[in-house]
Amino acid sequence: MDVALLLRMAAEGFGGRVALGPRHGGPAEALTYERLYELSRRAGRWLAGRDAGHAVLVGVNSPAVPLLLFGAAFARVPMVPLNYRLADERLAAVLRRVVPGVAVTDSAFAERVRTSPDGLVQADTETFLKAIAETAPADEDAPDPEGIAVLLFTSGTTGEPKAAVLRHRHLASYVVSTVEFMGADEDEATLVSVPPYHIAGVSAVLTSVYAGRRIVQLPSFDPREWVRLAAEERVTHAMVVPTMLGRILDALPAGGRPLPALRALSYGGGRMPVPVIERAMRLLPHVDFVNAYGLTETSSTIAVLGPDDHRAALGGDDQDVRRRLGSVGVPVPSVEVEIRDTSGRPLPAGQAGEIWVRGEQVAGEYLDRRAIRPDGWFPTRDEGRLDDAGYLFVEGRLDDVIVRGGENISPGEIEDVLAAHPAVADAAVVGLPDTEWGERVVAAVVLRDGHAPDAAELQDWVRGRLRSSRTPEHVAFRTGLPYTDTGKLLRRELRAELLGEQEESMP
Ligand code: ATP
Repeated sequence: MDVALLLRMAAEGFGGRVALGPRHGGPAEALTYERLYELSRRAGRWLAGRDAGHAVLVGVNSPAVPLLLFGAAFARVPMVPLNYRLADERLAAVLRRVVPGVAVTDSAFAERVRTSPDGLVQADTETFLKAIAETAPADEDAPDPEGIAVLLFTSGTTGEPKAAVLRHRHLASYVVSTVEFMGADEDEATLVSVPPYHIAGVSAVLTSVYAGRRIVQLPSFDPREWVRLAAEERVTHAMVVPTMLGRILDALPAGGRPLPALRALSYGGGRMPVPVIERAMRLLPHVDFVNAYGLTETSSTIAVLGPDDHRAALGGDDQDVRRRLGSVGVPVPSVEVEIRDTSGRPLPAGQAGEIWVRGEQVAGEYLDRRAIRPDGWFPTRDEGRLDDAGYLFVEGRLDDVIVRGGENISPGEIEDVLAAHPAVADAAVVGLPDTEWGERVVAAVVLRDGHAPDAAELQDWVRGRLRSSRTPEHVAFRTGLPYTDTGKLLRRELRAELLGEQEESMP
């Protein structure tokens, strides 16, 4: 199986059904599955005619995303969606790694790509869309499961972004094990608002096509636009990151039964605060919520907490069942998950350690560096534990663990407790250097409007709920916390800021 075959199956299965559009601010004309298939083959020939070693995209969600993704599959070159929000030098460094290639670029980003290295040809997105319509379709070759489908840079939350090499078999295996072929009813539509350079953006396109849903695109996330488009287009399925969900809930119309067509909302990409998901379930009681945990390197989801578990947790009295709302559910059947200690030995249920994963959808290497062990087990650098019933709890990134007096403290558990305080809108916890303890716990807190607790009140709140070593020694009040636009907390940035303030305040 490869990504090109996946599209061919969809074209044969769905023919005249609408695959794409309309999108917000985009072309009025919608593309059927047949037309998407035909245009993708034309894109394939267009890319092949330019000797493009890579099909690079520097653009927001638009028809160019699926056309370049599938076109690259027909041309047998990797598609490389890039983060257009990277700082100039970082974007330039990333562009140097994907030559030779063609960079399809939205006009808004043209200046930033203009200085691209030799061997990278720039093409404007509109020009690309026009040119492919005038190119003959590429021939279809036998499936190419070993070929590279997508080179996808990680978010760079913990260091420099790494480019995961996602082969056709990795993505196809994820898609086939996640959705049923032709599993969607004709009225189903997916709203894609996560950017195309994130694994959730790529996987939303592939799973929608294989299931037979219509893709509705939001070029860049805005909560009001999201709600408006979801209502107008009668969207049935969507995927969001936790920060988006909170903002969507604030943008819902008051009263009535908002978004009646919406059936399933999955979320992931970062920790979901329990109060936010509880609020979402109350405001949208007809929606099936799914927590999806995954990484770029694992072609998206490797564990899910499904709708039944959500409902049981909200309504039930059983503490173990209620706690599951803070978990990412159980590993999907196609992967194996183990919790291991620092020397790589598996740990029993209940004990925290590093999450390791193995399965067909897990990438085997990074660009430039071979990184994954020959036995296929991939260390995620996430800290977690499995409970007796097999539910996986993700505590956070191992690199974020605070070591205070030899004790390991996960910022996530303190953040969850702070987030549950009625006055707290958002909270982040980091470790700062401390001469006595090695590291000390420091919290940055954003308050809800109209609330003004002092640091001592918040410290007492944490002290009453967690062991004393977890109490933040300092609470810094903020108007907002730094996030990537895919909702990931830029902890390194926040830590550097807080460290600067600590140093300034020292005599
Ligand atoms: P980098 O590897 O460059 O630091 P990154 O790991 O943030 O970047 P991604 O692959 O986009 O890049 O993110 C994967 C990480 O996101 C996971 O390792 C995990 O920490 C977090 N994550 C993803 N889904 C969930 C979820 N449902 N719940 C909690 N955390 C999640």
